[in-house]
Amino acid sequence: MLIGQGIDVHRFAPDRRLVLAGVEIPHALGLEAHSDGDVVLHALCDALLGAAGLGDIGHHFPDSDAAFKDIDSRVLLRRVMGSLGERDLRVHNADLTIVAQAPKLAPHLAAMRACVAADLGCPPARVNLKATTSERLGFTGRGEGIAAFAVVLLDAAGGSTSP
Ligand code: MG
Repeated sequence: MLIGQGIDVHRFAPDRRLVLAGVEIPHALGLEAHSDGDVVLHALCDALLGAAGLGDIGHHFPDSDAAFKDIDSRVLLRRVMGSLGERDLRVHNADLTIVAQAPKLAPHLAAMRACVAADLGCPPARVNLKATTSERLGFTGRGEGIAAFAVVLLDAAGGSTSP
């Protein structure tokens, strides 16, 4: 077993779509980013790369590279999963937490969970998604942006973790 954690933060911006865990959410503001700004999938990618000992998302998909401009973060997640697959690493489970004052995310959690599970290649029951506010405290509480936290556990299917 290999454990990894990931954290990401993006700032709200006008004239942007809000995409969280691969699901587009109706909201007046979206998240500023070089990619589609999916803060949840970025935290998840970092957790997966961390567990695999493969660095971080900025190293693999630099925002200086025009190829990643406005890219669907599910494409990045699938590439990370490809790298893990080459190393015989599979996701045992993932636990994701979104910190946002608004919008209300509860109605979208099931769709997000299904989306993430499909990309991770595991049953939805192995992907837990939670949303919380920060009680109006800090940058998330003031509605300046969204933070996401991810923890994953990987099975080293081949019994070896060497690349
Ligand atoms: Mg990010």
